[in-house]
Amino acid sequence: MEEQYDIIIIGSGLGGLECGVILSREGYKVLVLEKNKQLGGNLQTFSRDKRIFDTGIHYIGGLDEGQNLNQYFKYLGIMKDLNLKRMDEDGFDLISFDDDEKVYRHAQGYQNFIDQLAQDFPEEINGIRTYCDKLIEVCNTFPMYNLEPSNSDLQNMPFLDVNAYEFICSVTNNQRLRNVLAGTNVLYAGEADKTPLYVHALVVNSYIESAYRCVNGSTQIAKLLTRVILNNGGKVLKHAHVTKFHFKGNTIESVELEDGRAFFAKNFISNVHPAVTLEMVEEGKVRNAYRKRITSLSNTVSTFIVHIALKPGKIKYFNYNIYHYFDPDVWKGPHYKVEDWPLSFAVFTGVTSKNDGYADTITLMAYMREEETQQWADTYNVVSKVMERGEAYEEFKIKKAEKLIDALEKRLPGVKQSIHSYYTSSPLSYRDYIGDKWGSLYGVMKDYKNPLKTFISAKTKVPNLYLTGENLNMHGALGVTIGAVTTCSEFLTNDYIMKKVVKA
Ligand SMILES: Cc1cc2nc3c(=O)[nH]c(=O)nc-3n(C[C@H](O)[C@H](O)[C@H](O)COP(=O)(O)OP(=O)(O)OC[C@H]3O[C@@H](n4cnc5c(N)ncnc54)[C@H](O)[C@@H]3O)c2cc1C
Repeated sequence: MEEQYDIIIIGSGLGGLECGVILSREGYKVLVLEKNKQLGGNLQTFSRDKRIFDTGIHYIGGLDEGQNLNQYFKYLGIMKDLNLKRMDEDGFDLISFDDDEKVYRHAQGYQNFIDQLAQDFPEEINGIRTYCDKLIEVCNTFPMYNLEPSNSDLQNMPFLDVNAYEFICSVTNNQRLRNVLAGTNVLYAGEADKTPLYVHALVVNSYIESAYRCVNGSTQIAKLLTRVILNNGGKVLKHAHVTKFHFKGNTIESVELEDGRAFFAKNFISNVHPAVTLEMVEEGKVRNAYRKRITSLSNTVSTFIVHIALKPGKIKYFNYNIYHYFDPDVWKGPHYKVEDWPLSFAVFTGVTSKNDGYADTITLMAYMREEETQQWADTYNVVSKVMERGEAYEEFKIKKAEKLIDALEKRLPGVKQSIHSYYTSSPLSYRDYIGDKWGSLYGVMKDYKNPLKTFISAKTKVPNLYLTGENLNMHGALGVTIGAVTTCSEFLTNDYIMKKVVKA
């Protein structure tokens, strides 16, 4: 007789692991299945030349005592064990433009945020205040963001159909300030004609509240969550690539793995992109209209990253991120012409417990559309299949990396000489290691013009299949955590979990 689980979770990204923690703690018999050799999805780190590189979480907001993510992480049982470094309070995100010598700062704490920007834009202080007030007002309309139970009445939520770009334009006529306020929009792959204000507000507010880096990388979050699941009696398997759901009548009874193994459960939660999840559901088991709706959603653009290992003692550790723009319009990024690439880049440094005052890594990130790597799309680099992409691909990566490093040299003169070695990841790397089909940065693209279409419910049209992860409500550490609670609310009720979160 096959072992039967209460809940099988497919994918060990942040959302999958958090569901595993919540449900195993409540007595459910949980199994997490992860296709990769490392757990965590975007929480994974990799190590080269004795340096640690983050792949998908470079800093986290809302982690001060009393703030939302701090409270959720307490509830999940990991807050006290996290090894974090607070970023510079007077400027954790620095925005700069190639045509301007000034560097503009996003500071922690709303008053500080206003004060720092007012130094550069003294005549615009009222506009900056209006901007901050609105951010807070928008965030206040999301109950779980404020640690309150959710009634999920999306239809009546205000602000969902307000456009971020237009709102920012409405608070000031100063073009530079407009671009500074939106200057971290790579955090949500912002697009002027799409991004809703609430996406901008939820992300930016979280970091204004507080901004932290993970010392020695963000994989610690995955390790801590896994430990809690195992302590609760749950199971977590790596090298477990789910390929198909098997049905008994209208409900799923088991999942089949690439290597032929099968696992049985009463309920299934997929942490995999919803469109890819539906590919594992055979025709006829969900209505075509539902399948079409989910598969037709657009995804956020992808990225090209140069992971730089620095020579020791060369570049002083900087406790902030850099967002640099060659085109003064910060919203243009994803719509670059290949010959003009990159229009912008973001820079993150890793922080280690070594703490000798010098940076040992730089993550240099620019937008890249998946079409740029389309010609190699039929090659894969996954656990079960490592295929050579050939010389042309290697040349492509070197050409792009050198161009990006040259761009960085303009912003950080001397950096080129300080490089010990570098490694790259392209849209194909993210596609293969996260398992979506596009290498998308943050999954489904939100659109203020049709906001409800881009809200994906945790419940699917299969009675015992649920979704979790960044495609549910919002991406990022906080968005995914709130999404995991939303998914588990289908089993435990939202009131019940939120009471426990608040009491944690
Ligand atoms: C470059 C980059 C930088 C980012 N920076 C930040 C940041 O600084 N701060 C922040 O808060 N957020 C950041 N994010 C966003 C954040 O990392 C993600 O939103 C979040 O980690 C996604 O979590 P998830 O639960 O959706 O799972 P994912 O990370 O998407 O993981 C999904 C998991 O499912 C597994 N899987 C897929 N298919 C299968 C299958 N068939 N069988 C078994 N397992 C499968 C995958 O291997 C993976 O482990 C960044 C993202 C990117 C890409």
